[in-house]
Amino acid sequence: ERLVQKCIEVRGVKVKIADVPVPVPYGSAFEGEVVRRADMRIEFGGKKSRCFEYLRMVELDDVTDGKVEVIGPGFEDIEPGGFMDVGIVVDVAGRGMQEDFEPVLERQMHYFVNGASGIQHIGQRDIAWVRIATSAADKGFSLEHFGKILHARYHDDFGAIVDKVQVTVYTDPDLLQEWLGKAREAYDYRNKRLANLTDNAVEEFYTCTLCQSFAPDHVCIVSPERLGLCGAYNWLDCKASFSINPTGPNQPIHLGKVIDTTKGYWEGTNDYAKVGSHGSVEEIAMYSIMENPMTACGCFECIVMLLPETNGVMVVSREDPSMTPSGMTFSTLAGMAGGGLQTPGVMGVGKFYLISPKFISSDGGFKRVVWMSSVLKESMADELAAVASREGDPELLDKIADERNATTVDELMAWMEEHNHPALVMDAIF
Ligand code: SF4
Ligand code: ZN
Repeated sequence: ERLVQKCIEVRGVKVKIADVPVPVPYGSAFEGEVVRRADMRIEFGGKKSRCFEYLRMVELDDVTDGKVEVIGPGFEDIEPGGFMDVGIVVDVAGRGMQEDFEPVLERQMHYFVNGASGIQHIGQRDIAWVRIATSAADKGFSLEHFGKILHARYHDDFGAIVDKVQVTVYTDPDLLQEWLGKAREAYDYRNKRLANLTDNAVEEFYTCTLCQSFAPDHVCIVSPERLGLCGAYNWLDCKASFSINPTGPNQPIHLGKVIDTTKGYWEGTNDYAKVGSHGSVEEIAMYSIMENPMTACGCFECIVMLLPETNGVMVVSREDPSMTPSGMTFSTLAGMAGGGLQTPGVMGVGKFYLISPKFISSDGGFKRVVWMSSVLKESMADELAAVASREGDPELLDKIADERNATTVDELMAWMEEHNHPALVMDAIF
Protein backbone atom coordinates (compact mmCIF):
# COMPACT_ATOMS: atom_id res chain seq x y z
CA GLU A 1 0.00 0.00 0.00
CA ARG A 2 1.48 3.36 -1.07
CA LEU A 3 1.89 6.16 1.42
CA VAL A 4 -0.90 8.67 1.20
CA GLN A 5 0.28 11.66 -0.80
CA LYS A 6 -1.30 15.07 -0.65
CA CYS A 7 -0.30 18.42 -2.02
CA ILE A 8 0.83 21.46 -0.09
CA GLU A 9 2.41 24.70 -1.17
CA VAL A 10 6.08 25.32 -0.46
CA ARG A 11 7.45 28.70 -1.46
CA GLY A 12 4.56 29.18 -3.85
CA VAL A 13 4.98 25.79 -5.55
CA LYS A 14 2.59 22.87 -5.11
CA VAL A 15 4.47 19.79 -3.94
CA LYS A 16 3.42 16.32 -2.98
CA ILE A 17 3.96 15.30 0.59
CA ALA A 18 3.75 11.81 1.96
CA ASP A 19 2.07 10.73 5.14
CA VAL A 20 5.16 9.91 7.13
CA PRO A 21 4.56 10.30 10.89
CA VAL A 22 6.89 13.23 11.58
CA PRO A 23 6.08 16.73 12.86
CA VAL A 24 7.46 18.40 9.70
CA PRO A 25 6.29 18.28 6.06
CA TYR A 26 7.71 15.29 4.20
CA GLY A 27 8.22 14.71 0.46
CA SER A 28 10.80 14.42 -2.29
CA ALA A 29 10.62 18.19 -2.86
CA PHE A 30 12.66 18.68 0.31
CA GLU A 31 15.50 16.37 -0.75
CA GLY A 32 17.92 19.04 -1.94
CA GLU A 33 17.31 21.31 1.04
CA VAL A 34 20.36 22.80 2.75
CA VAL A 35 20.42 23.58 6.47
CA ARG A 36 22.89 26.37 7.08
CA ARG A 37 24.93 26.52 10.28
CA ALA A 38 23.05 29.63 11.43
CA ASP A 39 19.70 27.81 11.11
CA MET A 40 20.88 24.60 12.68
CA ARG A 41 19.67 23.17 15.99
CA ILE A 42 22.20 20.33 15.99
CA GLU A 43 24.41 18.23 13.71
CA PHE A 44 25.55 14.62 13.77
CA GLY A 45 28.75 13.81 11.89
CA GLY A 46 30.75 16.32 9.89
CA LYS A 47 33.96 17.70 11.33
CA LYS A 48 33.20 17.50 15.04
CA SER A 49 31.30 14.29 15.60
CA ARG A 50 30.59 10.87 14.13
CA CYS A 51 27.39 9.67 12.51
CA PHE A 52 26.99 6.22 11.03
CA GLU A 53 24.16 4.22 9.52
CA TYR A 54 23.96 0.50 9.20
CA LEU A 55 21.21 -1.73 7.84
CA ARG A 56 21.26 -5.47 8.30
CA MET A 57 19.02 -8.39 7.56
CA VAL A 58 17.84 -10.47 10.51
CA GLU A 59 15.38 -13.30 11.04
CA LEU A 60 11.66 -12.46 10.98
CA ASP A 61 11.28 -13.49 14.63
CA ASP A 62 14.01 -11.08 15.71
CA VAL A 63 12.25 -7.94 14.53
CA THR A 64 9.33 -6.08 16.03
CA ASP A 65 7.88 -4.18 13.12
CA GLY A 66 7.61 -0.47 13.79
CA LYS A 67 9.66 -0.53 16.98
CA VAL A 68 11.88 2.55 17.29
CA GLU A 69 14.25 2.83 20.21
CA VAL A 70 16.65 5.62 21.16
CA ILE A 71 19.39 4.22 23.40
CA GLY A 72 21.20 7.04 25.19
CA PRO A 73 20.42 10.74 25.66
CA GLY A 74 18.52 12.89 23.17
CA PHE A 75 19.83 16.28 22.07
CA GLU A 76 17.72 18.39 24.48
CA ASP A 77 20.73 19.17 26.66
CA ILE A 78 23.09 20.07 23.80
CA GLU A 79 23.38 23.82 23.22
CA PRO A 80 21.80 25.20 20.01
CA GLY A 81 24.21 24.85 17.06
CA GLY A 82 26.03 21.99 18.80
CA PHE A 83 26.85 18.43 17.77
CA MET A 84 26.75 14.86 19.01
CA ASP A 85 27.59 11.31 17.90
CA VAL A 86 24.72 9.20 16.57
CA GLY A 87 24.47 5.70 15.12
CA ILE A 88 21.36 4.51 13.30
CA VAL A 89 20.92 0.77 13.04
CA VAL A 90 18.07 -0.66 10.97
CA ASP A 91 17.01 -4.28 11.27
CA VAL A 92 14.92 -5.59 8.40
CA ALA A 93 13.37 -8.97 7.82
CA GLY A 94 11.29 -10.36 5.02
CA ARG A 95 10.66 -13.53 3.07
CA GLY A 96 12.00 -11.87 -0.07
CA MET A 97 14.99 -10.28 1.66
CA GLN A 98 18.58 -11.36 0.94
CA GLU A 99 21.86 -10.31 2.51
CA ASP A 100 22.92 -8.97 -0.90
CA PHE A 101 20.20 -6.35 -0.65
CA GLU A 102 21.57 -4.80 2.58
CA PRO A 103 23.80 -2.17 0.90
CA VAL A 104 21.05 -1.23 -1.54
CA LEU A 105 18.56 -0.62 1.24
CA GLU A 106 21.11 1.07 3.47
CA ARG A 107 21.99 3.61 0.78
CA GLN A 108 18.34 4.72 0.65
CA MET A 109 18.64 6.25 4.11
CA HIS A 110 20.24 9.27 2.45
CA TYR A 111 17.15 9.94 0.32
CA PHE A 112 14.59 8.88 2.91
CA VAL A 113 15.97 11.11 5.68
CA ASN A 114 16.42 14.03 3.28
CA GLY A 115 12.71 13.96 2.49
CA ALA A 116 11.90 15.60 5.82
CA SER A 117 11.66 19.38 5.66
CA GLY A 118 14.41 20.96 7.76
CA ILE A 119 16.64 17.89 7.79
CA GLN A 120 19.82 17.73 5.71
CA HIS A 121 21.59 14.43 5.10
CA ILE A 122 24.97 14.12 3.36
CA GLY A 123 27.22 11.10 2.96
CA GLN A 124 26.77 7.47 3.92
CA ARG A 125 28.03 4.61 6.08
CA ASP A 126 30.33 5.98 8.84
CA ILE A 127 30.79 9.37 7.19
CA ALA A 128 27.14 10.39 7.27
CA TRP A 129 26.45 14.01 8.22
CA VAL A 130 23.00 15.07 9.34
CA ARG A 131 21.68 18.47 10.37
CA ILE A 132 18.39 19.29 12.05
CA ALA A 133 17.18 22.85 11.50
CA THR A 134 16.01 24.88 14.50
CA SER A 135 12.60 25.18 12.82
CA ALA A 136 12.27 21.38 12.66
CA ALA A 137 13.44 20.89 16.24
CA ASP A 138 10.95 23.56 17.37
CA LYS A 139 8.17 21.56 15.75
CA GLY A 140 9.24 18.58 17.84
CA PHE A 141 11.48 16.66 15.43
CA SER A 142 13.62 14.32 17.56
CA LEU A 143 15.92 11.32 17.12
CA GLU A 144 13.08 8.81 17.14
CA HIS A 145 11.67 10.42 14.01
CA PHE A 146 14.57 9.05 11.97
CA GLY A 147 13.18 5.64 12.88
CA LYS A 148 9.61 6.64 11.98
CA ILE A 149 10.73 7.86 8.56
CA LEU A 150 12.79 4.77 7.81
CA HIS A 151 10.07 2.37 8.92
CA ALA A 152 7.47 4.07 6.73
CA ARG A 153 9.67 4.43 3.67
CA TYR A 154 11.15 0.91 3.67
CA HIS A 155 7.64 -0.53 3.78
CA ASP A 156 6.50 1.82 1.08
CA ASP A 157 9.38 1.51 -1.37
CA PHE A 158 10.54 -2.04 -0.66
CA GLY A 159 7.31 -3.72 0.44
CA ALA A 160 8.00 -6.59 -1.96
CA ILE A 161 11.06 -7.72 -0.01
CA VAL A 162 10.69 -6.16 3.43
CA ASP A 163 8.02 -7.36 5.89
CA LYS A 164 9.34 -5.94 9.16
CA VAL A 165 11.51 -2.96 10.04
CA GLN A 166 12.88 -2.00 13.43
CA VAL A 167 15.16 0.97 14.08
CA THR A 168 17.58 1.63 16.94
CA VAL A 169 19.26 5.01 17.35
CA TYR A 170 22.39 4.86 19.50
CA THR A 171 23.78 7.87 21.36
CA ASP A 172 25.11 5.99 24.38
CA PRO A 173 28.89 6.25 23.81
CA ASP A 174 29.81 2.64 24.63
CA LEU A 175 27.05 1.04 22.62
CA LEU A 176 27.64 3.45 19.78
CA GLN A 177 31.30 2.38 19.57
CA GLU A 178 30.32 -1.27 19.72
CA TRP A 179 27.84 -0.88 16.84
CA LEU A 180 30.22 1.29 14.84
CA GLY A 181 32.66 -1.62 15.00
CA LYS A 182 30.00 -4.04 13.74
CA ALA A 183 28.99 -1.64 10.99
CA ARG A 184 32.59 -1.26 9.83
CA GLU A 185 33.00 -5.03 9.69
CA ALA A 186 29.96 -5.17 7.43
CA TYR A 187 31.19 -2.34 5.17
CA ASP A 188 34.53 -4.07 4.88
CA TYR A 189 32.96 -7.40 4.04
CA ARG A 190 30.82 -5.77 1.34
CA ASN A 191 33.83 -3.91 -0.11
CA LYS A 192 35.81 -7.11 -0.44
CA ARG A 193 33.03 -9.37 -1.63
CA LEU A 194 33.79 -8.82 -5.31
CA ALA A 195 37.55 -8.58 -4.91
CA ASN A 196 38.37 -11.05 -7.65
CA LEU A 197 35.87 -9.92 -10.23
CA THR A 198 37.42 -7.92 -13.07
CA ASP A 199 35.94 -5.58 -15.66
CA ASN A 200 37.09 -7.90 -18.43
CA ALA A 201 35.10 -10.76 -16.98
CA VAL A 202 31.67 -9.16 -17.32
CA GLU A 203 29.51 -8.15 -20.27
CA GLU A 204 27.76 -5.31 -18.53
CA PHE A 205 28.43 -2.44 -16.18
CA TYR A 206 25.66 -0.63 -14.30
CA THR A 207 24.30 2.88 -14.18
CA CYS A 208 23.51 4.62 -10.94
CA THR A 209 21.24 7.62 -11.15
CA LEU A 210 20.21 7.68 -7.49
CA CYS A 211 21.98 11.00 -7.00
CA GLN A 212 20.23 12.78 -9.83
CA SER A 213 17.80 14.24 -7.31
CA PHE A 214 20.76 16.35 -6.16
CA ALA A 215 22.94 16.55 -9.28
CA PRO A 216 20.55 16.08 -12.23
CA ASP A 217 23.21 15.43 -14.91
CA HIS A 218 25.51 13.24 -12.86
CA VAL A 219 25.82 9.55 -13.61
CA CYS A 220 27.94 6.99 -11.88
CA ILE A 221 28.99 4.14 -14.14
CA VAL A 222 29.79 1.25 -11.87
CA SER A 223 32.05 -1.62 -12.92
CA PRO A 224 33.50 -4.53 -10.94
CA GLU A 225 36.81 -2.65 -10.64
CA ARG A 226 35.35 0.79 -10.07
CA LEU A 227 32.70 1.21 -7.42
CA GLY A 228 30.38 4.20 -7.14
CA LEU A 229 32.01 7.34 -5.81
CA CYS A 230 29.97 7.23 -2.59
CA GLY A 231 31.77 3.98 -1.82
CA ALA A 232 28.47 2.44 -0.78
CA TYR A 233 27.43 0.97 -4.15
CA ASN A 234 29.55 -1.51 -6.03
CA TRP A 235 28.82 -3.62 -9.10
CA LEU A 236 27.20 -6.41 -7.07
CA ASP A 237 25.02 -3.89 -5.25
CA CYS A 238 23.86 -2.39 -8.53
CA LYS A 239 23.09 -5.86 -9.80
CA ALA A 240 21.10 -6.58 -6.64
CA SER A 241 19.28 -3.28 -6.96
CA PHE A 242 18.37 -4.11 -10.55
CA SER A 243 16.95 -7.43 -9.46
CA ILE A 244 14.82 -5.71 -6.80
CA ASN A 245 13.64 -2.99 -9.14
CA PRO A 246 14.17 -3.65 -12.86
CA THR A 247 13.00 -0.14 -13.80
CA GLY A 248 14.97 1.58 -11.02
CA PRO A 249 18.13 3.69 -10.90
CA ASN A 250 20.56 0.84 -11.60
CA GLN A 251 20.33 -0.42 -15.16
CA PRO A 252 22.75 -2.74 -16.92
CA ILE A 253 24.89 -1.11 -19.61
CA HIS A 254 25.66 -3.65 -22.31
CA LEU A 255 29.26 -2.87 -23.12
CA GLY A 256 29.15 -3.76 -26.80
CA LYS A 257 32.22 -2.98 -28.89
CA VAL A 258 35.44 -2.00 -27.11
CA ILE A 259 36.73 1.37 -28.29
CA ASP A 260 39.81 1.68 -26.07
CA THR A 261 40.64 -0.82 -23.32
CA THR A 262 43.43 1.33 -21.83
CA LYS A 263 41.38 4.44 -21.28
CA GLY A 264 38.20 2.49 -20.71
CA TYR A 265 35.84 3.38 -23.56
CA TRP A 266 33.10 1.10 -24.85
CA GLU A 267 30.27 1.85 -27.21
CA GLY A 268 27.81 1.03 -24.47
CA THR A 269 29.35 3.29 -21.82
CA ASN A 270 29.74 6.21 -24.23
CA ASP A 271 26.18 5.92 -25.49
CA TYR A 272 24.95 5.80 -21.94
CA ALA A 273 27.11 8.74 -20.80
CA LYS A 274 25.33 11.01 -23.31
CA VAL A 275 21.85 9.81 -22.42
CA GLY A 276 22.33 9.66 -18.66
CA SER A 277 23.89 13.11 -18.46
CA HIS A 278 21.17 14.56 -20.71
CA GLY A 279 23.81 15.52 -23.25
CA SER A 280 26.07 17.43 -20.88
CA VAL A 281 28.80 14.79 -21.23
CA GLU A 282 29.86 13.21 -24.53
CA GLU A 283 32.09 10.40 -23.32
CA ILE A 284 33.44 8.93 -20.11
CA ALA A 285 36.83 7.25 -19.79
CA MET A 286 36.51 4.69 -17.00
CA TYR A 287 40.24 4.65 -16.21
CA SER A 288 41.44 8.22 -16.65
CA ILE A 289 41.39 11.41 -14.63
CA MET A 290 42.99 13.45 -17.42
CA GLU A 291 40.66 12.64 -20.31
CA ASN A 292 36.85 12.63 -20.00
CA PRO A 293 36.81 11.65 -16.31
CA MET A 294 33.67 10.48 -14.55
CA THR A 295 31.46 13.27 -13.22
CA ALA A 296 30.60 13.61 -9.53
CA CYS A 297 27.57 14.47 -7.42
CA GLY A 298 28.57 15.45 -3.89
CA CYS A 299 28.81 12.06 -2.17
CA PHE A 300 32.42 11.13 -2.95
CA GLU A 301 34.52 9.58 -0.17
CA CYS A 302 37.69 11.13 -1.60
CA ILE A 303 38.76 13.72 -4.14
CA VAL A 304 41.60 12.94 -6.53
CA MET A 305 43.21 15.99 -8.06
CA LEU A 306 46.10 16.67 -10.40
CA LEU A 307 49.00 18.66 -8.93
CA PRO A 308 50.68 19.69 -12.21
CA GLU A 309 54.05 20.63 -10.66
CA THR A 310 54.44 17.16 -9.17
CA ASN A 311 53.53 15.14 -12.26
CA GLY A 312 51.11 13.31 -10.00
CA VAL A 313 47.85 13.48 -8.07
CA MET A 314 46.76 13.96 -4.47
CA VAL A 315 43.96 12.05 -2.75
CA VAL A 316 42.00 13.90 -0.06
CA SER A 317 39.62 12.10 2.27
CA ARG A 318 36.29 13.55 3.33
CA GLU A 319 37.46 12.88 6.87
CA ASP A 320 40.53 15.11 6.51
CA PRO A 321 39.86 18.76 7.50
CA SER A 322 43.46 19.92 6.97
CA MET A 323 45.04 22.06 4.25
CA THR A 324 46.19 20.24 1.12
CA PRO A 325 49.03 21.12 -1.27
CA SER A 326 46.45 22.46 -3.74
CA GLY A 327 45.92 25.41 -1.38
CA MET A 328 42.39 24.20 -0.61
CA THR A 329 40.74 22.03 2.02
CA PHE A 330 38.36 19.20 1.25
CA SER A 331 35.27 21.37 1.62
CA THR A 332 36.51 23.96 -0.89
CA LEU A 333 37.63 21.22 -3.27
CA ALA A 334 34.25 19.51 -2.95
CA GLY A 335 32.60 22.57 -4.46
CA MET A 336 34.83 22.20 -7.52
CA ALA A 337 34.55 18.46 -7.90
CA GLY A 338 30.77 18.09 -7.53
CA GLY A 339 27.65 19.18 -9.35
CA GLY A 340 27.84 16.72 -12.24
CA LEU A 341 30.53 18.58 -14.19
CA GLN A 342 33.32 16.85 -16.06
CA THR A 343 36.60 18.48 -15.05
CA PRO A 344 39.84 16.91 -16.35
CA GLY A 345 42.28 16.62 -13.47
CA VAL A 346 39.58 16.45 -10.78
CA MET A 347 37.53 13.45 -9.77
CA GLY A 348 35.42 12.30 -6.83
CA VAL A 349 35.95 8.61 -6.02
CA GLY A 350 35.05 5.86 -3.59
CA LYS A 351 38.09 4.99 -1.48
CA PHE A 352 38.14 1.38 -2.62
CA TYR A 353 38.74 2.53 -6.19
CA LEU A 354 42.21 3.60 -4.99
CA ILE A 355 43.28 0.00 -4.57
CA SER A 356 41.81 -1.19 -7.87
CA PRO A 357 44.28 -2.14 -10.62
CA LYS A 358 42.12 0.11 -12.79
CA PHE A 359 42.68 3.20 -10.62
CA ILE A 360 43.60 5.94 -13.17
CA SER A 361 45.43 3.11 -14.93
CA SER A 362 45.58 4.97 -18.23
CA ASP A 363 47.41 7.86 -16.50
CA GLY A 364 50.00 5.66 -14.82
CA GLY A 365 47.98 4.16 -11.96
CA PHE A 366 48.61 4.29 -8.24
CA LYS A 367 52.24 5.39 -8.66
CA ARG A 368 50.85 8.80 -9.59
CA VAL A 369 49.71 9.34 -6.00
CA VAL A 370 52.15 11.81 -4.46
CA TRP A 371 50.07 12.96 -1.47
CA MET A 372 47.31 11.24 0.47
CA SER A 373 45.37 12.08 3.65
CA SER A 374 46.86 10.11 6.53
CA VAL A 375 43.43 8.79 7.54
CA LEU A 376 43.38 6.80 4.29
CA LYS A 377 46.91 5.50 4.77
CA GLU A 378 45.96 4.32 8.24
CA SER A 379 42.48 2.99 7.66
CA MET A 380 43.48 1.08 4.51
CA ALA A 381 47.03 0.15 5.50
CA ASP A 382 46.83 -3.52 4.54
CA GLU A 383 45.09 -2.93 1.22
CA LEU A 384 47.52 -0.17 0.25
CA ALA A 385 50.53 -2.29 1.15
CA ALA A 386 49.22 -4.91 -1.24
CA VAL A 387 48.86 -2.26 -3.94
CA ALA A 388 52.46 -1.13 -3.43
CA SER A 389 53.69 -4.69 -3.94
CA ARG A 390 51.46 -5.12 -6.97
CA GLU A 391 52.97 -1.95 -8.45
CA GLY A 392 56.46 -3.38 -7.92
CA ASP A 393 57.46 -0.76 -5.33
CA PRO A 394 56.95 -2.15 -1.80
CA GLU A 395 58.23 1.13 -0.25
CA LEU A 396 55.75 3.23 -2.24
CA LEU A 397 53.56 4.19 0.73
CA ASP A 398 56.52 5.74 2.53
CA LYS A 399 57.21 7.89 -0.51
CA ILE A 400 53.70 9.37 -0.51
CA ALA A 401 53.42 12.51 1.61
CA ASP A 402 50.41 13.43 3.78
CA GLU A 403 49.14 16.46 5.70
CA ARG A 404 51.69 15.87 8.46
CA ASN A 405 54.65 16.49 6.18
CA ALA A 406 53.48 18.66 3.27
CA THR A 407 50.71 21.24 3.01
CA THR A 408 52.16 23.24 0.10
CA VAL A 409 53.43 22.24 -3.32
CA ASP A 410 56.96 23.39 -2.39
CA GLU A 411 57.03 21.19 0.69
CA LEU A 412 55.62 18.34 -1.33
CA MET A 413 58.22 18.69 -4.11
CA ALA A 414 61.00 18.67 -1.51
CA TRP A 415 59.50 15.56 0.10
CA MET A 416 59.21 13.78 -3.23
CA GLU A 417 62.84 14.46 -4.09
CA GLU A 418 64.02 13.41 -0.67
CA HIS A 419 62.03 10.16 -0.89
CA ASN A 420 62.62 9.47 -4.57
CA HIS A 421 58.96 9.38 -5.52
CA PRO A 422 58.44 7.49 -8.82
CA ALA A 423 56.22 10.22 -10.32
CA LEU A 424 59.34 12.36 -10.71
CA VAL A 425 60.63 10.07 -13.45
CA MET A 426 57.35 8.96 -15.02
CA ASP A 427 56.13 10.27 -18.39
CA ALA A 428 54.51 13.69 -18.25
CA ILE A 429 50.93 13.18 -17.03
CA PHE A 430 49.62 15.71 -19.59
FE1 SF4 B 1 24.72 5.91 -6.97
FE2 SF4 B 1 26.89 7.27 -7.49
FE3 SF4 B 1 25.02 8.31 -5.89
FE4 SF4 B 1 26.56 6.30 -5.04
S1 SF4 B 1 27.23 8.35 -5.57
S2 SF4 B 1 24.33 6.45 -4.81
S3 SF4 B 1 26.82 5.10 -6.92
S4 SF4 B 1 24.81 7.85 -8.09
ZN1 ZN C 1 25.62 11.51 -4.72
